[in-house]
This record gives sequence, C-alpha cells and structure tokens, in this order.
Amino acid sequence: MALIVQKYGGTSVGSVERIEKVAEKVKSFRDQGHDMVVVVSAMTGETNRLIDLAKQITPDPDKRELDQMVSTGEQVTIALLAMALQKRGCPAVSFTGFQVPVKTDSAHSKARILEIDDKRMRAELKAGKVVVVAGFQGIDAGQNITTLGRGGSDTTGVALAAALKADECQIYTDVDGVYTTDPRVEPRARRLDRITFEEMLEMASLGSKVLQIRSVEFAGKYKVPLRVLHSFQDGPGTLITLDEDNMEAPLISGIAFTRDEAKFTLRGVQDKPGIASLILGPVGEANVEVDMIVQNTGTDGTTDFTFTVARGEFQKAQRVLEKVQKDVGARELIADDHIAKVSLVGVGMRSHAGVASRMFKALAAENINIQMISTSEIKISVVIDEKYLELAVRALHAAFELDKK
Ligand code: ASP
Ligand code: MG
Repeated sequence: MALIVQKYGGTSVGSVERIEKVAEKVKSFRDQGHDMVVVVSAMTGETNRLIDLAKQITPDPDKRELDQMVSTGEQVTIALLAMALQKRGCPAVSFTGFQVPVKTDSAHSKARILEIDDKRMRAELKAGKVVVVAGFQGIDAGQNITTLGRGGSDTTGVALAAALKADECQIYTDVDGVYTTDPRVEPRARRLDRITFEEMLEMASLGSKVLQIRSVEFAGKYKVPLRVLHSFQDGPGTLITLDEDNMEAPLISGIAFTRDEAKFTLRGVQDKPGIASLILGPVGEANVEVDMIVQNTGTDGTTDFTFTVARGEFQKAQRVLEKVQKDVGARELIADDHIAKVSLVGVGMRSHAGVASRMFKALAAENINIQMISTSEIKISVVIDEKYLELAVRALHAAFELDKK
C-alpha cells in the first residue's frame, strides 16, 4: 500500500465524461488499497475563458481580483470529481487551496508555495477518503487567493507529494510520457522510460512543454519521484529521477528546440574593457533577458558582439539597441528574428568527448550553418536559421540514434 498523489490536467478533466473516467481510474487505485490524493486543473480552455472575461472589462486587471476569479476553474473540477467518486461508492472530499491550506507568498499570478499544512488531508485519508485538491491556487498571509502561474497545477501536485512524503507523484496528461523530441517534428521520437531531473529541467526550459518548469525544480529539490503518464492509455510513462549512475545512461537523452529566440549583432564595437556591460546593461535595465552571448576575438581594435533574447522581446530590445549602437559607436546593428535554437541534452555527455563534433558533423552533412554555439555540462545548443529547424532535429535524432533504445 502506498500514498500516491495524482495530478490530472485540463484535457483529462475537459468534460463530464472524462471526469467520470478519471474517477474510475482513481477508484481502481483506491481499490488496490492505496491512499489517494488527487490534484486537478480546470477544464480545458476554462482558465483562458475566465482571463478573457476579465480582459473585456479592462486590459490590465488587478492581479488580486484576477486570481480571485481564475481560481474558480479548479473549484468546479474538484467538486465534480468528488461527486463522481462518491457515486461509485468511493468516499471522497474536495478542498480548495485555501481549505488545505496551501500557503504562498503574495506574488499574484506567479505565487510561490511557502508551506503546506497536511493535517486536514491526513485526517481525511485516515477516515478512508480520497482527497481531491484544487491545483494552481493557494492563499497568502493576508488570506488573499493566489495562483501559481500557468500550468501551476503540476507544481501543486509535486508540492503536495513533498509535504505528504508520498511514494510517487503521477502527472497524468494527454501524452504518454516524455519523448526524445517532439513527435510532431520527428515521428520516430521515442518515449523515454526515465530521465533525470536535471535533463528534464533542460528539456522543459528549452521548450518541451510537458511539465511546468517549477514543478520539476520542486521535485528535484524535495526528491519527489515524479512520473508522467497518459490519462486514458495504459503504460509505464516516464519516470523522472535523481538516479543517474545508471551504466546504461544514454549519451544523449533528448533534443529540445525553441523558435522563441531572436538574435542581435553589433558589428565593429571597440575591443576594450567595459564594452559588454555598456551593451548589455541597458538591455537588462529594460527587463529584457539575454540568453546566449558570443563575442569574437578582436582584430584591429574592434570586435563583433552577438546575443539572443526571447522573440517576444525583439522589438523592445531593438529599440534599446538602436540607442546603444550610437552610444558605443558600433558600425552596424544586425537584427534577426528568424532563428531557432536546437539543443542536445544528456547527463551522459558529461563523461564523453566527441558529442559536439558528432553534432556539428551531422548538421554540416545537411548543409545547415551554425550561427552560435553554447555548451554546459549536460547540454550543447546551436542557433540556426529557423527554416532548417525540422531538418536539424531529424538529422540529430538520426545521428545519435535516438529512435533506438
Ligand atoms: N488551470 C491553470 C492553467 O490553465 C493551471 C493548470 O492547468 O495547471 O494554467
Ligand atoms: Mg499543464
């Protein structure tokens, strides 16, 4: 008998029929003797619908009131799921974040969980009930309802599992696990049986949207075994674990990619101390985050300075840089918002030289020009022209034989 926390996302509870199916599933675990805590999201589209309502009143709604409103989506699904369980003879009780309580800071729409009181949940589990908890929401010290950011129910699930010291946190969604890359780009992508937290963080932050990043950080910090599974198909899913000293750990676990990048180059800037800060200082002050940075070695006293930002910040960054160009006397400003970043991720590359050269060779064979390169212990990223993104992903998937186990 185990204590299991399950989280079902919006599509898994997107209709009454689906909620009934989830209830069947939860009940089958309960019938095996497990203690069950179930976190649910709002029905698909509901959070967006609510945000739209607010935007019809004002483009910039008060954050407290917005949280007050969007938190209702989850309140509907917890009650419906509890009813569906009760109908099946399975005792159940639902709690909002406030009732648990899930205590957070006061950063509305992106609150952080500070503390979870497990007393009430424990008492109900002991009384033989399934405990159903609203994802995405909490309560601050002033008794105001807060929310944890889009996709925040994942984090609720992991945080409850940590607080309850659950045996496993299972995240049910509309995919059957974490894949070597996006199957829409490479149909030969394969489900991974396991991936480390570290790798998952890279995959998630590089644009593979299976889990909210914060939930993975949380799970790593509190060592919560996390599993991603399909809500309505049987299968082992993908286990996200700490354990990486697995002899069979693959060199590369996956390929992440994002189109969400734009690139700027300042050509002919003076090669002298302080230049990088003169360029990036104003960018930072404008609240634009910089991702990759490359500076060439100088020739004849000048150099080129290139960096990337999120594509959504392209115009803002461009305005800042037009001024910077004049201030530092750069010869030219080149802006490009048609780039993509492709990254190989794998803890196995730590101990292996040659991953980078194999990567570059595979890209060269397809005539794909690499514009920028950056590396870390478990990741190599390249920036390329956006139009070669799919080709690059498929070429790398083949070169590292990710379709084979
Ligand atoms: N309902 C919230 C959202 O759509 C939270 C979640 O689904 O995890 O972002
Ligand atoms: Mg989600």
